[in-house]
Amino acid sequence: MKVDLHCHSNVSDGVLAPAAVAAYARAAGVDAWALTDHDEVGGIKEARAKATELGMRFVAGVEISITWANETVHLVGLQVDEDDPVLQRGLAATRAGRDARGREIAAQLEQAGIPDAYEGALKFVANPDLLSRTHFARYLCEVGICGTTAEVFRKFLTEGRPGFVPHRWATLPDAMGWIRAAGGIPVIAHPGRYRFDDTAQGALFDAFRQLGGNAIEVVTGSHTPEQYGIYAEVARRYGFLASRGTDFHAPGEARVEFDKLPPLPSDLKPVWHDWF
Ligand code: AMP
Ligand code: MN
Ligand code: MN
Ligand code: MN
Repeated sequence: MKVDLHCHSNVSDGVLAPAAVAAYARAAGVDAWALTDHDEVGGIKEARAKATELGMRFVAGVEISITWANETVHLVGLQVDEDDPVLQRGLAATRAGRDARGREIAAQLEQAGIPDAYEGALKFVANPDLLSRTHFARYLCEVGICGTTAEVFRKFLTEGRPGFVPHRWATLPDAMGWIRAAGGIPVIAHPGRYRFDDTAQGALFDAFRQLGGNAIEVVTGSHTPEQYGIYAEVARRYGFLASRGTDFHAPGEARVEFDKLPPLPSDLKPVWHDWF
């Protein structure tokens, strides 16, 4: 069974509508699929309806932005009840600062000689509640300042570059609490993406485990193939369940397409082991 538990639609910073992401995943052979938009569950009902129609098992998910040790960390919640009021209130609070951050990003870009980026980014936004750096990246590509969104994130929008605005997201205990309140399972997303040294990274896993967390992403489009092995070893060492997903955002923008991501190492216990 091909399982993909990390994907984005245009309800956050993907480009396809939830039903179109479902169809895209199905066409690539996915049998069990989760939509995990950033800080939003607004696409879940459309995604579930289309996934079910196409014969996929559906997992309702979300990817929550948190701040841990002054770094932005992403926490995926799987098997959540998208109607849960605690989860919905938490996500709404998390989204609330995005528009003001977007205006500050645009002000910095203007100082760097790139005007009108707020309006430009908004043209790429389907959900005005969720203005993301990705929308700014697509705008900078549209006006020819960069060729790819990856190049944008090397030159802009990240620490030390024009358009980086520090932001305080949810705390780890709060986000885990919202996921749990909604009946879901918290999973540390793409642990290889954070700029932690071994000590800080170990402290994150320990804090997560102390709060009852027991799953991490191992095989994800946001890891390098070398990191699949590194985080498989972490999962073994900590006894964590393992998750797998492309982190798909847009056709052609993907680092790994749905049909190219390898399976989890067979000795790891998948986070979905008793779901389907
Ligand atoms: P935000 O939540 O607005 O801070 O935007 C974060 C999003 O930007 C991530 O979910 C990715 O989709 C995208 N992103 C961040 N860093 C990179 C990168 N180095 N290359 C490509 N996309 C990135
Ligand atoms: Mn994203
Ligand atoms: Mn992420
Ligand atoms: Mn993601």
